[in-house]
Amino acid sequence: MEYSRSIVWLRRDLRIADNVALAAAASSSREVVLAFNVDPELLASGRVGAPIVQAFFDALGALRDDLRARGSDLAILQGAFARTLPEFAARIGAQAVFFNDDYEPSALARDEAVCTALRAAGVTTHRFLDHVVFGADEVRTEAGAPYRVFTPYMRRWRDRYALAPRLPVASERALVGKLLAPAEIGATRDVPVPEEFGFTSSPLYPACGEAIAHEMLDAFFARGGGAERYRDERDLPATEGTSRLSVQLRAGTIGIRTCVARAFAAARVSRHAEQIETWINELIWREFYQMILKEFPHVEGAPFVRAAERLAWSDDRAAFERWCEGATGYPIVDAAMRQLNETGWMHNRLRMIVASFLTKDLLIDWRWGERYFEEHLADADLAQNNGGWQWASSTGTDAAPYFRIFNPILQSKKFDPTGAFIRRMLPELAGVPDRYIHTPWELGPLMQIEYPAPVVQHDVARKRALAAYEPVMGKKAPPAGAARRGS
Ligand SMILES: Cc1cc2nc3c(=O)[nH]c(=O)nc-3n(C[C@H](O)[C@H](O)[C@H](O)COP(=O)(O)OP(=O)(O)OC[C@H]3O[C@@H](n4cnc5c(N)ncnc54)[C@H](O)[C@@H]3O)c2cc1C
Repeated sequence: MEYSRSIVWLRRDLRIADNVALAAAASSSREVVLAFNVDPELLASGRVGAPIVQAFFDALGALRDDLRARGSDLAILQGAFARTLPEFAARIGAQAVFFNDDYEPSALARDEAVCTALRAAGVTTHRFLDHVVFGADEVRTEAGAPYRVFTPYMRRWRDRYALAPRLPVASERALVGKLLAPAEIGATRDVPVPEEFGFTSSPLYPACGEAIAHEMLDAFFARGGGAERYRDERDLPATEGTSRLSVQLRAGTIGIRTCVARAFAAARVSRHAEQIETWINELIWREFYQMILKEFPHVEGAPFVRAAERLAWSDDRAAFERWCEGATGYPIVDAAMRQLNETGWMHNRLRMIVASFLTKDLLIDWRWGERYFEEHLADADLAQNNGGWQWASSTGTDAAPYFRIFNPILQSKKFDPTGAFIRRMLPELAGVPDRYIHTPWELGPLMQIEYPAPVVQHDVARKRALAAYEPVMGKKAPPAGAARRGS
């Protein structure tokens, strides 16, 4: 044994199973304690919102219960990381701190500072790759450069995985007999609640925790579960056509290796393998955007395509407010924004529609939308959120070409044909006849409901967007076969 006592510092990996840092700590230490630090500065920064705060706090509560049931405890610290961790290590006599990497630039900087402080206090640090299957530098072009386009990245990723799959790690088993007793850990703070930090919790926000995450994965892969219909139903917001695991993956209540291994195993024996393969591709999109953030950190706050910095965005605050509130007059956009505002989650097809609407129809800077999502999504993740916004606004890597502008009416008719989702989220439109559900303004004087007129006319807005994008982005005609992610 290298160490007599070690700390596993949890951050975006709030789980016991399939946790790389935990497995490493358990195999090289006689005793292990799991710790999480609550950072009031981050909570006050305005960059996190109630749904994600509630998800993380719920997951912490579940983890503490689980560890107590195993005869230990979760140490919940509070304060500046570079102070609390060295202090805690000194208090319990820990010689090492193990943790999993996070690619966000601010997290990388914070981790450097914490490692420096720990080393100064005589504590060894060990960091691991855990939140993605392959690290940013592990899936590269023949020339050794990072990919900028998804499809070749995905192929290389799959080749790598086929050659040497990264399977779930046995961290739970490794921990048996290693957990530090509560008396040795001493008292640490209670499980925090969102209200303590000025957030309002809601029973409508997604539940989060390790046991819940595994139940969700099991249900998705159960016989007749969503995985076997995924390719066909994932674009229909009225159905439960996707896994909803994003919140769990964000808080790390389930390991990505567990999800990937489960999907490949299911695809091998399923008659619907092609449906499951589509889901695996979505997990690879997640890896792709994590890689982009690590390799091109300028995407935080700036477009991937530098020329897009010259785009002349509208600063129409009133239009932005209407988008935020779900009062644009386009039912599919408004229903989507209500789903976000009320439940802390939004269906992927709808994220694409509302992001296109904001950046093309309203010509509002993608960063405004990215920030709004950041504050309202329980799965808010810099890499995926940024990737999604830059894709939709055509400013990103492998993005939608700028001239392919979603028509919100056609999207609505195609993906919510009966208006079932619209009626669910916008009860004021429940009685609108099917013919008008996507375009209620066509009811004219027959429209006896309180619902706003369209904030812009799509055809006019489309021309305005093309006129703004064309001189900056340069391409005039759509190239044949240009990437068409789900239009
Ligand atoms: C504008 C915009 C913003 C987005 N912001 C976020 C965000 O902050 N956090 C986030 O996790 N996802 C984000 N996404 C991606 C996607 O919308 C969500 O991951 C998905 O809707 C989550 O639902 P699910 O878990 O049911 O997904 P499923 O369809 O079941 O997919 C499984 C997993 O694959 C990953 N995934 C799925 N679609 C994508 C995608 N397009 N890009 C990257 N990864 C994907 C997610 O981890 C997801 O949980 C965004 C997409 C757009 C267009």
